[in-house]
Amino acid sequence: MNTTMNRTTCKTRLAAALVCAAAGTLATLAGSAHAAGEAKNVIFFLGDGMGPVTVTAARIYKGEKQLAAKPGSLVSPERANLVMQTLPYAARVKTYSLDGQTTDSAPSMAAYMTGVKMRNEVISMSSDTVAVDSTGKQYINGEDTTCAPTNGKAADTLLELAKAKGRAVGAVSTTRVGHATPATTYAHICNRNGYNTIAEQSVPGHANYNPKLLDGVDVLLGGGQRNYLPKPANPGSKRTDGVDLVAAMQAKGYAYVDTGTKLKAIDPAATGKLLGLFSQSEMAYELDRVKQNLDQPSLSDMTEKALGVLSKNDKGFFLMVEGGRIDHALHGTNAKRALEDTLAFDAAIQTALDFMNKKDPGLKNTLVVVTADHDHAIAFNGYPKIGNPILGLVNGYADGKPTKAADGKPYTTLVFGNGGRPGSISFSDANDPNATPADIAKKIADSNVNAEDGKKPWIAPARGPVRDDQTTMDTTDDNFLQEVGINLGSPGAETHGGGDVMLFAGGAGSKIFKGTMENIKVFNKVKEAAGL
Ligand SMILES: [Zn+2]
Repeated sequence: MNTTMNRTTCKTRLAAALVCAAAGTLATLAGSAHAAGEAKNVIFFLGDGMGPVTVTAARIYKGEKQLAAKPGSLVSPERANLVMQTLPYAARVKTYSLDGQTTDSAPSMAAYMTGVKMRNEVISMSSDTVAVDSTGKQYINGEDTTCAPTNGKAADTLLELAKAKGRAVGAVSTTRVGHATPATTYAHICNRNGYNTIAEQSVPGHANYNPKLLDGVDVLLGGGQRNYLPKPANPGSKRTDGVDLVAAMQAKGYAYVDTGTKLKAIDPAATGKLLGLFSQSEMAYELDRVKQNLDQPSLSDMTEKALGVLSKNDKGFFLMVEGGRIDHALHGTNAKRALEDTLAFDAAIQTALDFMNKKDPGLKNTLVVVTADHDHAIAFNGYPKIGNPILGLVNGYADGKPTKAADGKPYTTLVFGNGGRPGSISFSDANDPNATPADIAKKIADSNVNAEDGKKPWIAPARGPVRDDQTTMDTTDDNFLQEVGINLGSPGAETHGGGDVMLFAGGAGSKIFKGTMENIKVFNKVKEAAGL
């Protein structure tokens, strides 16, 4: 509401004096509810693909862990609370993109970051930007993708607006730093697959550098060495020009780390610019990071270090933190890894709240927003009894026994509307005219094992009309893949869902997040609260 405008209108309409006086009071009340610009610090948490079912299932999973660690500490696991759910304000968000009833991660996060509805696969560009040609083929393909200069214009991001105000800025993710979500904060491109080009946009002095970043993103942490470090030193590199972007950033004053141990050794008080790339591609799932004792930081570790560096700036900061691999585990219909990554994301929120409450008691100058970019095809079904394991078979609330489907066999609480299965490939891969029988056989063989867990075999009930009896399977195994309705091919094929997602907010300016919002309105609200 604009009180100046109200005053002017009221002066010219004396007959409506009483109405105007009332409007003035309302304006004052609205003003006291949130003073624009009070949030000099913004922490924007994004759980990739973390739809409502995933949030609820993760909450119950957290309760199970709490009860296992401390029996009797909860009446039942359903009573647990996620940290994000302790934030005082909440809203629902519509996530559709300009051309997709169901969005991918690029335009949905870009909507939050720029306030512009754009097409699927587009990163922070104007609405007229196209990612695919008229036949539906990728407009420009490959990691060196660049866009024709006539194909749309860059749309300003919250991170860029904060930088322009002299604030410190950062992006942290468990995916490659150039993956769609983090890329929308600092890069602009017509097609999200241009990972090399996206990386170059983060490197001060590079010909493709994004000049809106001024002296550079202050903290950038995640995976993605293969787009920054060239061959031959990095044999898995995707770079085709031999340019070492890490060295280029170090030359501009960035400290560079590539392990959890090295990140821990960084002194935030003595560090102005920080680049951390902890894996060639995506970072490990939280489950594998812990199980395999990998020297990668947790999302919580990265968040704390980022806040340490950024919060030194007296003018404030903008930090985006993504739990990026929740989405990947859901694509794989591997609910366990999705729930573990959701809890790791939630733990990072706790870390941020603890850190900021010390610096800024009561979060008087700090806005915390937590949301998701889209849903998935996961469903929570049956009538399981209270306390039933969330990764287990449905045991009915009345008799506690496995509930049977029409075929007389039980089913799990968490299932997916669609997805892949081991030993299978997609229809398009199976019918690819360029694929040899050997190519197809290799794809099928690869689909049987989890490459991120020592090539252990996936465990998955059969898809289709004849179902396996899952009483003989361990549905809580790390590599169990939930049952799916429509078989789309190999693991990883499950799709996003088009349903609305939740948003949670707390701290300075958070009261304005309420009701059901268009995703592009989230941008306006953060911008207003932060005075950008
Ligand atoms: Zn996503």
